[in-house]
Amino acid sequence: MSHEMWTAQLDAYLDGELDSAETVKLDSHLRECPACAAEGLRRLQWKKTIQSAGQRYVADPKLRERLQKNIAPEKPVRRWWPAYAITMAVVLLLAGIAVLREGSRQERNSRIVSELVDLHVSTLASSTPVDVVSTDRHTVKPWFAGKIPFTFDLPELQGSPFELVGGRISYLEQSPGAELIFRVRKHQISVFIFQERAIPGRLPNMGPTDVRSFHLETWTHNDLRYCVIGDAAKDDIQALSNLLKGRG
Ligand SMILES: [Zn+2]
Repeated sequence: MSHEMWTAQLDAYLDGELDSAETVKLDSHLRECPACAAEGLRRLQWKKTIQSAGQRYVADPKLRERLQKNIAPEKPVRRWWPAYAITMAVVLLLAGIAVLREGSRQERNSRIVSELVDLHVSTLASSTPVDVVSTDRHTVKPWFAGKIPFTFDLPELQGSPFELVGGRISYLEQSPGAELIFRVRKHQISVFIFQERAIPGRLPNMGPTDVRSFHLETWTHNDLRYCVIGDAAKDDIQALSNLLKGRG
């Protein structure tokens, strides 16, 4: 393959969009070819600049295309590089890729968490916060049947300070899920359940965490993502989470 063919794959490579076979091939080419490794570094630098310049700004694809044409590599110059220079370029490139991926992963996760908090806030503010009003889990659970593409179990609350208020359909990234509303000591808590695959990337499991003025706990179980949010005490958020995890 010519250098042009390798460099044409660099953007997809840096964005983690190549399949694993292609990634392995390009990896090994970059380890041997200083021209392509240097070009990779140059584009990585470019992507990092863009990423930090506009955290939430999404470039028009046409603009992106035009810019990429402008910075497209001139014919790569073959010249002899000392071995250490090649090694350094590859090491820097790989380290840079890791930083870039970590950066976009963190950005994506905080966007998802922030969307979940927004959903909770909009329920608090809504004039009809609950679509199925019931304190009986045997009424609430079947209400969701056919409305969302999965089922879930609700814990026995007897003997706990928690009260089920009801539930509603919620949407995260255009995917339907369940929002269950609980009350404890006059605080309202939302429990969101979505299919894990509806959420881009992988949200890490988090213990009770401060997010804005709320506490949030999130975890996965059986390919479902659970998220408990409210302004109740951290201990209450954790206790409700444990009940839902079946460890009550
Ligand atoms: Zn090359």
